[in-house]
Amino acid sequence: MIAIGVDIGGTSIKGASINDKGEILDRFSLKMDKEIEPEISIGKMCDEINKFIKNKKYKSKIIGVGLGVPGILDKEAGIVKSSPNLPKWINFKIADFVQKRVNLRVKIVNDASSAVLGEARFGSGKNYQNIIMITLGTGVGGGIIINGKLYDGLGGTGAQLGHEVIRYNGRQCSCGRKGCLEAYASATAIIKEAKNNLKKYPDSKLNKEDVIDAKVIFELERQGDKLAKKLVKEYVIYLSEGLLDFCNIFRPEIFLLSGGVANEGDYLIKKIVKYMKKKHYGYINAPEIPIKLASLGYDSGKIGAASLLFEQYE
Ligand SMILES: [Zn+2]
Repeated sequence: MIAIGVDIGGTSIKGASINDKGEILDRFSLKMDKEIEPEISIGKMCDEINKFIKNKKYKSKIIGVGLGVPGILDKEAGIVKSSPNLPKWINFKIADFVQKRVNLRVKIVNDASSAVLGEARFGSGKNYQNIIMITLGTGVGGGIIINGKLYDGLGGTGAQLGHEVIRYNGRQCSCGRKGCLEAYASATAIIKEAKNNLKKYPDSKLNKEDVIDAKVIFELERQGDKLAKKLVKEYVIYLSEGLLDFCNIFRPEIFLLSGGVANEGDYLIKKIVKYMKKKHYGYINAPEIPIKLASLGYDSGKIGAASLLFEQYE
């Protein structure tokens, strides 16, 4: 059994043919223009999919297309109701639209949820029934698996864990509220904070960097740079406070971290674990919460979206 899994983003559309073991067979990608009508961009995607599957030996084994889409969805009806990242996408019947053009069954899911599905079925979350996954990238994404099943809210509108407020009246968030976890724990947030502090720390090596990203900040932190140390210290506190809330609400068996900042791996995880210790509710007798890195990287969304098609055969 093979399905096509597609990750639709604001700048690119990336897809792959994926078998029911979660293995990627072949890939395709195309540029995405978020400002144009969805019928045009997704029309191009359908042409690409048709071209992609045309001469594949396994064409007859392809059972459908799974789409990971950013935004507010009606998952059952296959409609994107709105998307903060794709302003022209209003009530776009994407499943019908794609099905008519590629002649395959189509399922849709919120993009953050597709990532946790991929990890839960084929990645770091494989042996767990209750998982919270946090993606630390441009924004902060979230995904929830409860009792082995995806929990993605009414209509599949996603688990917007990044928009939990950790500081009342805090930093402005892209969602319109202030103080969201995303405004503190995203890669964008730590970079912005670095830039805001450059003048206050004229001796910091960050002043000499052409491009400031999370990797550079963590590198300089390890070298003892004062500004970098302050940034990482505060970053760990904010992220850990968010995770502590999710820990107290869901008490998952495991937290999975993915996205750019998570590339810091065990170095970052150790700091978070140290901060979270003795702070989660009932910590004296409660089990410790393991934190792991997501293992599928940027493929988790594609694999998770494809896995929606395998569900009916389970
Ligand atoms: Zn927000």
